[in-house]
Amino acid sequence: MSEQTPTVNMDKIVSLARRRGFIFPSSEIYGGLSGCWDYGPLGVELKRNVKQAWWQAMVQERDDMVGLDTSILMHPQVWVASGHLKGFSDPLVECKNCHVRWRADELSEQKCPSCGGELTEEKMFNLMFKTYAGPVESDENIVYLRPETAQGMFVNFQNVINTTRKKLPLGIAQTGKSFRNEITTGNFIFRSREFEQMEIEYFVKPGTDAEWFEYWYQERFNWYVKLGIKKEHLRLYEHPKEKLAHYARRCIDVEYLFPHGWSELEGIANRGDYDLRQHSTSSGKSLEYFDDETKEHYLPNIIEPSAGVDRSLLAFLCDAYSEEPDKDEIRAVLHLHPSLAPIKIAILPLSKKENLVACAKPVYNELRKQWAVQYDDTQSIGRRYRRQDEVGTPYCVTVDFQSLEDNRVTVRERDSMKQIRIPISTLKKTLEAKFAREDFLVVPAGGEIWKTN
Ligand code: ATP
Repeated sequence: MSEQTPTVNMDKIVSLARRRGFIFPSSEIYGGLSGCWDYGPLGVELKRNVKQAWWQAMVQERDDMVGLDTSILMHPQVWVASGHLKGFSDPLVECKNCHVRWRADELSEQKCPSCGGELTEEKMFNLMFKTYAGPVESDENIVYLRPETAQGMFVNFQNVINTTRKKLPLGIAQTGKSFRNEITTGNFIFRSREFEQMEIEYFVKPGTDAEWFEYWYQERFNWYVKLGIKKEHLRLYEHPKEKLAHYARRCIDVEYLFPHGWSELEGIANRGDYDLRQHSTSSGKSLEYFDDETKEHYLPNIIEPSAGVDRSLLAFLCDAYSEEPDKDEIRAVLHLHPSLAPIKIAILPLSKKENLVACAKPVYNELRKQWAVQYDDTQSIGRRYRRQDEVGTPYCVTVDFQSLEDNRVTVRERDSMKQIRIPISTLKKTLEAKFAREDFLVVPAGGEIWKTN
């Protein structure tokens, strides 16, 4: 499995993302800012859908999970207790000739990759961004942009337990921005300095942690598969015992076969009681849990599945992309899972003629109450289909002159390119069934039932 070669090259994805308004370089008119990206009109929809799919599966559909949204700036003591101030660093070397800085553990040779010059000794470089809270730039006012969302969940553990009256096992989930002053950025949005995370801190009774760890890495692996990533493009990598942080009992990464090779998509760690113990000692506040059933007080153990929104989005884009021969041309398609697709349905009137518009607009207005729908009446129908395929729109609805007579429209499915003609009165129901992946209920004129699978 590991020998597999990536199926798409990154230039194709970067170019599609740029051209179709998924992702732009940040501050592009000023030449961009390294490690920062802006999500365009389609990108923002895709990103919201990724987070929504995660929230739905991890919070909404579970009894043992609650959400949180904590601040990016936190009390500086948080980073002392967590160990970030001391240890959240990467080894840095500098070229003595051209002064470019590199991350030492990513170099294959002991010389500068850009000019071949000699490198300095390694020193540790802390990845946290520093700034000042308030108008005085003094040491007491230093605050950090959080490098992970996790700490907000640890320090709120008691607040959540007290206000929800939930019992263990209990997870806290949040999505949000994190910042890391990475020494080198790259591979498009894979490694940036400002990015978004989707993190879970799952609190369990000590002694049950090993079992819950098994559960969580499988659960998280399956989440990607359910959302359409091919199993053969995913693998689990277990960190060897000797490389684990001293408090970590086990750590498994879900890796994806990115265009630049197998790399981490998400890390799942068994952190024991390290985090709550550190914050309890440092703050002087008890973070123990009282177990009603056994009448014991204890510090829960934590299983942490920590994923990146941007990295997942990149994996979804890469895995969905395909180029398929279609007559004399090549059809570029994003086979995105329908729940992730930025546009769910496109309404395509055959022409801009008034009577067609009068028929197509009400259909558009009705469907957009429920889905992200695009109305497109420019260029030939073939080109419009191609445009929608390229951004992953699962269904196109074409309104033609015949529609004015028989009140029927043509629905075209992205993946199979199959088309059926159905009454406008059944369109919404039909699309609902398709999105719910139910068998198609309507028998079209030709008699063939358009099956989902
Ligand atoms: P890496 O080894 O790639 O630097 P990490 O092990 O430091 O990652 P974690 O601290 O485990 O990453 O962070 C959890 C998740 O957050 C990662 O799996 C990834 O999806 C995301 N993430 C971390 N750093 C970045 C970054 N610089 N850019 C984009 N996403 C990131």
